Amino acid sequence: MSHDPQCIFCKIVAGHIPSKKVHEDDELLVFHDIHPWAPVHLLVIPKVHVASLADIEPEHQQWLGKMLSLAPKLMKQQGVTNGFRTVINTGADGGQEVYHLHMHVYGGPRPWAKG
Ligand code: AMP
Ligand code: ZN
Repeated sequence: MSHDPQCIFCKIVAGHIPSKKVHEDDELLVFHDIHPWAPVHLLVIPKVHVASLADIEPEHQQWLGKMLSLAPKLMKQQGVTNGFRTVINTGADGGQEVYHLHMHVYGGPRPWAKG
């Protein structure tokens, strides 16, 4: 399934739910987390619906690599100069709450709420 009408992040991709976007290209969307854990907290998602990292297939490798390589550029654009964290929660024991694959990228001066 490339799009799940019930999925909150698919609704954000479709523009049916508003988000504070910071980057968009043909494969990826990046927006601010609604409950930030740090002064800057972004979510990097594929536009295609993939429920979690456990569901990744070989054909996803290109945008998966792009998600990671985008992180330092995004943080630089956001003025984060002293390091950042990248986190992908996967599945129930991984603490995943939204089942559309996403990478948290967060940074800025400490203290942070999580991490
Ligand atoms: P996870 O626990 O890794 O699944 O994280 C899901 C994240 O999505 C949480 O940090 C939420 O704050 C965030 N989130 C949920 N709904 C929205 C939304 N509508 N816009 C932005 N971030 C959201
Ligand atoms: Zn989705």
